[in-house]
Formats: sequence, structure tokens, C-alpha cells
Amino acid sequence: MPIDHAAAQALFVEYDKAADVLDESGPIWHGDIENCDVCSRPMEPEIYMIDGPAQASAQPMWGNMCVICAYKLSLKIEWGIAQLYRRQGSHWYLIAGGPPPRDDWDL
Ligand SMILES: [Zn+2]
Repeated sequence: MPIDHAAAQALFVEYDKAADVLDESGPIWHGDIENCDVCSRPMEPEIYMIDGPAQASAQPMWGNMCVICAYKLSLKIEWGIAQLYRRQGSHWYLIAGGPPPRDDWDL
């Protein structure tokens, strides 16, 4: 059954703890993302972008996806699995699925 855009987006809002206040000190996506890598939907009006596995296969290519494609292919946001970015102005800010706090790094 097809999912509509609002329903798909609502699933990713769950990860957006900062709902109103975006931490702009966090990592941003470098480079332009004009279209969803899977469905080619223009990303300009999108609020969220998911960087994750963009193919339903054992060794998928990763891509930048809209919420509808991510709903189908990359629903789980977690470090090493997929990252969730939120648009603010002309930048995409990483808001979920980033690396754990530096204290936890085993360097
Ligand atoms: Zn898409």
C-alpha cells in the first residue's frame, strides 16, 4: 500500500528531538542534494533527508532519500545504519543517527 508524504514524514519527526530548536553546531551535509536518489523527487521542499541504504538488497548502495523512499528502504535511523538530516535554510543538519558522543569513542 502506498504511503503518503505526511505519514512518512511523521515517522521521521519521531527522531527530531529538537523539534523547534535546531543545534546548528552539529555536522552538516556537504554538497548539493537536488533530487531524491531513488524517486527523483525534488528535495528543495523537503524538511528531512535520509542518508542510508537506497536499495532493497543485501549490499545496498547508499543514497540521499526523501521520507517516502526512506520509509520503504531505510526506516531505521542509527549510527552505521542511516542518518537523518533536517533542512535549515540552505543546509542539511545531521539530527539523528550520528556518531555516539566523543567520550564513547575508542580511539
Ligand atoms: Zn524519494
